[in-house]
Amino acid sequence: MDTSAMPSAIYDIRAEPVPNAMGSARRRLAYLYDTEGRRLLLPHFDDWQLDNPPAEVAGLLAVGAPYRGMAWARRPEVEALIRRRAAHRRAWLWAVYGALIVFGCMGPVRRTMWMGHETPMSAVVQDGSMATVLAFHAHPDDEVLLTGGTLARVAAHGHRVVIVVATDGLMDAAPQGEAPRLGELRASAAVLGVARVVHLGYANSGHGAILYPDPPDRARFVRADTEEAAERLAAVLREECAELLLSYDANGGYGHRDHVKVHEVGKRAAELARVPRVLEATMPRDVVDRLTKLVRLLRIPFRFDADALRTAYSPRAAITHTIDVRGFAGQKQAALAAHRSEVSGTGRLAPLMRMLVRLPAPVFGWLLGTEWFVEAGATTTGKTVGDIFQQTS
Ligand SMILES: [Zn+2]
Repeated sequence: MDTSAMPSAIYDIRAEPVPNAMGSARRRLAYLYDTEGRRLLLPHFDDWQLDNPPAEVAGLLAVGAPYRGMAWARRPEVEALIRRRAAHRRAWLWAVYGALIVFGCMGPVRRTMWMGHETPMSAVVQDGSMATVLAFHAHPDDEVLLTGGTLARVAAHGHRVVIVVATDGLMDAAPQGEAPRLGELRASAAVLGVARVVHLGYANSGHGAILYPDPPDRARFVRADTEEAAERLAAVLREECAELLLSYDANGGYGHRDHVKVHEVGKRAAELARVPRVLEATMPRDVVDRLTKLVRLLRIPFRFDADALRTAYSPRAAITHTIDVRGFAGQKQAALAAHRSEVSGTGRLAPLMRMLVRLPAPVFGWLLGTEWFVEAGATTTGKTVGDIFQQTS
């Protein structure tokens, strides 16, 4: 800890048990807390040096009381800060443990892990011609988790990448000027090297049991006429002469109603604009299963319906493209961090997002360094290809 930042005001001194202390390790350490909830280890105030650290701390507090001009009373707002900082420390620790477990389990299979080897680009790229890829998403932030690495990789190879987002992420009427989450999407897109961001003009439909009425100024995406929404997307596809559309699988990934709608609208728009190839972003179900187990193991506060996830996303056998994006993990993580309101908010995903943006980049790369797609209409041979410009057959 940076002691120059300590303490804004001394709040408390505590002798605390060391969790899981083994063998001859110290079992109790004393910390000084400030009113920001930060703690500073008090050296020599432990059970190696003292017979009874809690009694020593109580004595210290008693001596200090007259000089404070106030009692050592507990304050709920500081207690909340202390709990929050403790939770962050635990999340960090578990993330590191988790990463070490994953690393250990994967062993020699992932020899190239640190480097993130590059697969050769397809003939389309090798002949020097540049393509335009359009990624269609439901909400700001969706572009990162499912396709962020792929977009960064494609952009890094000189192709033009365009993101079209159906909704601005808001449940309510659009504010004056740009919706905050669209601004965050632009920041994320800039990190990924995306050339253009377009909002189709719909409102978020929400993921709860209730589908709320439309806000006064526009339709929720799920209520949009599919043909009309597809025409809006097709107009951008035509204008950009896009060769490749990235959309969502038929389940809409985990099943958000707007994500299912992205699949339907994307499919129809590709027909209208005669886009030759559509790759649908997804995850293999066994990976989803492993990740949910890891989230549980790490005790990350994230609610999910495990039964629903068993039929979500896509079976492994349907995957046609497995893209190695470990080399772009840093960009993917920075793009995620650009979604500030999601990361710092109170939403369902916020604790998970906070943990992800705090991970060291290589650990982030281990967890989110692969992206998967199902090519619409392609036959699966059991083998997947590692480049979105290649086809399985
Ligand atoms: Zn979404």
